[in-house]
Amino acid sequence: MSADGRYAPSPTGELHLGNLRTALLAQFFARAQRSRFLLRVDDLDPERSRPDWVERQLGDLRAIGVDWDEDPIFQSRRAHIYGEALGPLIAGDSVYECYCTRAEIRSAVSAPHVDLPEGAYPGTCRDLSVERRRELVASGRPPALRVRAEAATVGFEDRIHGTVTGVVDDFVVRRNDGVHAYNLATVVDDAEQGIEEVVRGDDLLGSTGRQLWLARTLEVRAPTSFAHVPLMLGPDGERLAKRHGAVTLGERLAGGDSADQVRAELLASVGLPGAGEIPTIDELLEALR
Ligand code: GLU
Repeated sequence: MSADGRYAPSPTGELHLGNLRTALLAQFFARAQRSRFLLRVDDLDPERSRPDWVERQLGDLRAIGVDWDEDPIFQSRRAHIYGEALGPLIAGDSVYECYCTRAEIRSAVSAPHVDLPEGAYPGTCRDLSVERRRELVASGRPPALRVRAEAATVGFEDRIHGTVTGVVDDFVVRRNDGVHAYNLATVVDDAEQGIEEVVRGDDLLGSTGRQLWLARTLEVRAPTSFAHVPLMLGPDGERLAKRHGAVTLGERLAGGDSADQVRAELLASVGLPGAGEIPTIDELLEALR
């Protein structure tokens, strides 16, 4: 069975060693199944993404031994496609305008009858009265667009986490500055690129229910297999970060290590051999579970 995969970095800075490890694992999953492995540049956010980070990230990926089929696609060039995908949602009243600021969302208490995960949107703007909407429009606040998911639940199997039930909140599909949101772009691109297996860090486990829900709503194909891999931790057990010292390939090379040494170390950190053959799926799962 084919299981085309991808790695989709956001060029908002240098990749750290944890990102590089995730990319290596994503490549292994695809190659172990003799599938295509694609690279996508998630440069949706024009303020945070920079072309020089793209170059740097792709260079680091190649140096550590990640290679991909076909030229990468760039989300920044696909706004018209995401806009088109939104058309039927707008026409079908599956989205609504949301005028909330971040601070308002943080301070809002979720409706007690709805069992939403932490950080989920509580639905404040879902059923605004005509007068209230008029006031908000008049106040000049630009609206974001949110889906009407109303705490739908979506179950899926993850190769590492087992059966997962995602609760889908009314997440944003277009930000209030007009930029399309991560979940929308990901669903559209995964469908168009024919991605069958998503391998990514387990910090995104909570996004998968949203993405499956959106794929169903947009009537596009969705990936059928997921592996949310563990994030790399620093010596203190916290998520790897700058304060842990040399956390990028560039810093490690400057310190005298070779790219091969760093690769071997990254793989050893999950119990995989550094050189030689691509592990089998069973070996990967044994290492990661
Ligand atoms: N661009 C996202 C990130 O760097 C990953 C997207 C994904 O794998 O779905 O966190």
